[in-house]
Amino acid sequence: MIKIYDTKQRAKVDFETLEHGKVKMYVCGPTVYNYIHIGNARTFISFDVIRRYFEWRKFDVVFVQNVTDVDDKIIAKANEEGRSAHEVAAEYTKAFIDDMHAVNVKDPTIRPCATQEIPDMIKLVQELVDSGHAYEAGGDVYFDVRSFPQYGELSGRNVDEMESGHRELRTEGIADRKHDPLDFAVWKAAKPGEPAWDSPWGKGRPGWHLECSTMAQKYLGLPFDIHGGGADLVFPHHENECAQSEAATGRVFANHWMHSGMLRINSEKMSKSLGNFLLLRDVLKTVDPNVLRFLMLQTHYRSPLDFSSDRLSEAETALGRIVTFVRNLDWGIENAAGLQDVFDPAIVKDECRKEKIAFITAMDDDFNTSKALGTIFDFIGKKNAEIGGSALSVRDVASAQEIRDLIMELMGVFGLQMDKLVAGDEPQESDAFPPEIVTLAAEVAGYEGSDGAEAVDALLAARAEARAAKDWAQADAIRDRLGALGFAVEDTPQGARISRVED
Ligand SMILES: [Zn+2]
Repeated sequence: MIKIYDTKQRAKVDFETLEHGKVKMYVCGPTVYNYIHIGNARTFISFDVIRRYFEWRKFDVVFVQNVTDVDDKIIAKANEEGRSAHEVAAEYTKAFIDDMHAVNVKDPTIRPCATQEIPDMIKLVQELVDSGHAYEAGGDVYFDVRSFPQYGELSGRNVDEMESGHRELRTEGIADRKHDPLDFAVWKAAKPGEPAWDSPWGKGRPGWHLECSTMAQKYLGLPFDIHGGGADLVFPHHENECAQSEAATGRVFANHWMHSGMLRINSEKMSKSLGNFLLLRDVLKTVDPNVLRFLMLQTHYRSPLDFSSDRLSEAETALGRIVTFVRNLDWGIENAAGLQDVFDPAIVKDECRKEKIAFITAMDDDFNTSKALGTIFDFIGKKNAEIGGSALSVRDVASAQEIRDLIMELMGVFGLQMDKLVAGDEPQESDAFPPEIVTLAAEVAGYEGSDGAEAVDALLAARAEARAAKDWAQADAIRDRLGALGFAVEDTPQGARISRVED
């Protein structure tokens, strides 16, 4: 049974789908007036992993994510740059989708844009007015918070306490057309030069919260299973979405609410004023998207995540260990003949099954990715110990393949692009064989080809020949020069083999 932490219930609860085998989820998308920062990226990557896990567990997932393409911030940016709001929104919508693809976030099943849904939004506003939950004032329409007794339940706020916080503002003359300072706009009268649509209340545009309410209801129906977003959206955005939708329809809006934690930079809150505001696309100029994703997976999605260059390099090293393990298996699979048996097929089968269960147990517990990664490292560590720090001695290809398939499958659930990483173009120590091996084999063993594995065979054969001829100097020279390239030669009863020296 999958358990999720439900923000509204303030508890980890059993997750039961409303419709058998189907998960309907809505995750608030971006307001497209700028490039997204890595805090936003954390939210989207978190929910991408949650979605991928549901899919891997064979749920049919309908994932809806809106684009807010009309908003005060978009209009402000457009005015600043002398462009239309539409132009600004189109540019940053495209940039957002590109950014999501860059970090391997899957496209939503449906990606509605607010400006394409205005008639349905007007309909929802009308329903609120008709049912007495909203009122018109000077072309604006406001939700009457006091008309909905459950207001505050999602974010755990008390309406009377919130009211007293607002009283001060009111006495300072900031009070507006609202009947009550807590009321919020579901429809905003157009100011000159703003994008506007005709409505029963004159020209205007929808409020942000109302946009999400409309699109979630339209594409998922009510109630749906999960509403997600960053923790910064709990109040007021999600509280307001929930209030409007439930007041207008008399139905439950979302069955569960899930929120991802904040991202901090070097233990500080990310903010423009602190000058530590990082855009995702700037981070990706120097950081592999898989490393960034891996860093995020190392922290549970609800916990605050600390982003720093130290943590990035730790993530890179840890991910590199998994990649190296798979490359070593690949080498073993390709060069199996004549090598030593290290795996017992029956034991491997059983251990793979156990690892899969451990992974599922961790992920079923509110998507505990860091714990699930821990199970993978335990599994790899054990296998590495069995093969003596080197995977260059695998005769049981089927077992090696089974281990490889499992690792690739589980890493795929996390959205990590393992095929790319294992194929890796980056010339580094994790590469199967450096080209110097071929050069060395040509020099000391007369090897004429260009294949790293063949070159190793040639070198080991040359060393064996030298030893047979009691030419210890030559045998040691070959060993030392392999050592300089990062490979240790080990003599075993089955003959010599080489292993990569782990640093
Ligand atoms: Zn929303």
